[in-house]
Amino acid sequence: MFKTTDRPPTDQTGHALTLRRAPAGQPILGLPTSTKLLGLNTHFCHGRTLPCQAPDCKACQESIPYRWHGYITYLDLKDRVHCLLELPAAATGNLVQWTDTHGSLRGSVIRISRQQKKSNGRVLSELKARTETDILLPPEPDLIKALCTLWRIPYTTATPANNRDIHPDNPTQRHLLAQQIAIAADEIDKLLNKPENPQ
Ligand SMILES: [Zn+2]
Repeated sequence: MFKTTDRPPTDQTGHALTLRRAPAGQPILGLPTSTKLLGLNTHFCHGRTLPCQAPDCKACQESIPYRWHGYITYLDLKDRVHCLLELPAAATGNLVQWTDTHGSLRGSVIRISRQQKKSNGRVLSELKARTETDILLPPEPDLIKALCTLWRIPYTTATPANNRDIHPDNPTQRHLLAQQIAIAADEIDKLLNKPENPQ
């Protein structure tokens, strides 16, 4: 069974949040909707990004390099789109410090730019307390769910509900998070190999 419509949907993104990276030129200005940063090692292999599944990771076995990336969700102040922000590790210090001091990124304004506005410039992150208090933020999205959607891997119930307690600075917890996403990644082949994909 599938549904048809006589016009395109207003929201074509489904469950996906728009992925944004630090732009050259005009900076990103946004309101974080995540409580805190979530990060993990990822590989770019076979044309797509996938979470590192160490110690049993096919990409690691193929010596494909991995990089740690930090993610938050935010409401973009320019186009009002709910986005997923990907940051290199070097640009995440201010976010960790802010959460440690204030308890949550929600309630702040974030500015993401590149040094000298160059496409290869160092990524800079700045946070300020929000002065307008009448902006209602959407509820905090499930970052793991957003990442699974982005990477087209199934989100499984194997992910514990307390995943917000996983802090990227803690290697054990980071590993646990990678494992959780890896469980989801294990199912991708099954899903793709189904002769009739219900989606
Ligand atoms: Zn790996």
